[in-house]
Amino acid sequence: MTQDPTTPEPSTRETLDTGVPHIARVYDYWLGGKDNYAADREVAEQVLATGNTATLNVRANRAFLGRAVRFLTAECGIRQFLDLGTGLPSANNTHEVAQRIAPESRIVYTDNDPIVLVHARALLTSHPAGATTYIHADVREPAKILLEARDTLDFEQPIAVMMIGLMHCIPDEDDPAGLAAQVLDALPSGSFLALSQPALDINGAAMARAGHVMDKLMPNKITYRTQEQVTRFFAGTELVEPGVVSAPQWRPDEGADTTTRAVWAGVGRKA
Ligand code: SAM
Repeated sequence: MTQDPTTPEPSTRETLDTGVPHIARVYDYWLGGKDNYAADREVAEQVLATGNTATLNVRANRAFLGRAVRFLTAECGIRQFLDLGTGLPSANNTHEVAQRIAPESRIVYTDNDPIVLVHARALLTSHPAGATTYIHADVREPAKILLEARDTLDFEQPIAVMMIGLMHCIPDEDDPAGLAAQVLDALPSGSFLALSQPALDINGAAMARAGHVMDKLMPNKITYRTQEQVTRFFAGTELVEPGVVSAPQWRPDEGADTTTRAVWAGVGRKA
């Protein structure tokens, strides 16, 4: 039987299972993935037990990622992506969506979770006309990421920065808005920021229950934010229509379910 190239050897998996839950793997579980451990599943199940619709929220978030990349590639002519907080490989990773439309697209992925690093091979399956690379780094060190990304991306040409489902992992004291600004500052005009994060002000009671469980069980604190707070991350860009909205309502496909989910999402263009 052929080993699934995206799955690490069992010995590697055991080493990586520290018994400490991590957001990338909790998210993977809600998405229906298999790259998670008992501690992650425990957090994920406890959140669902509070009545939170986390599985629907993360699917809406992931679908937004796909539509945003398609929009940026097909309608805005973007051929370069810097995907921060990539997560575990799943269906429709950024390079797959972009390269289906423009095979020459170049993508830099980054994450700070060691298990994402182990699975990064599945992200390095670029079309030969383009390129994908992976940087293991903390997004709170943007200078390091921007330096290493230069090996793959041309910073004289527009780049789309993807911060999809990332900012709730960055607490206010780490200045997430300053972080987004620092990354955007390094990019030429005509670049884009695509960003989404869980909402504080949609289904507020259910989100508060989820936040309480996650803060109790996970070492890294989660920060849900209001529409106004999320909109501030787009400072220095012009939001494309329809602005910052619940993820399913951002440029939905015809006939798609646009039920409000507790995720704010938007895309802005740097002037
Ligand atoms: N972007 C993917 C998506 O939307 O499908 C994954 C989202 S997942 C909820 C959040 C990802 O951000 C995780 O893979 C996590 O490891 C990563 N992350 C969290 N804090 C980070 C940090 N400080 N630096 C880099 N990555 C981080």
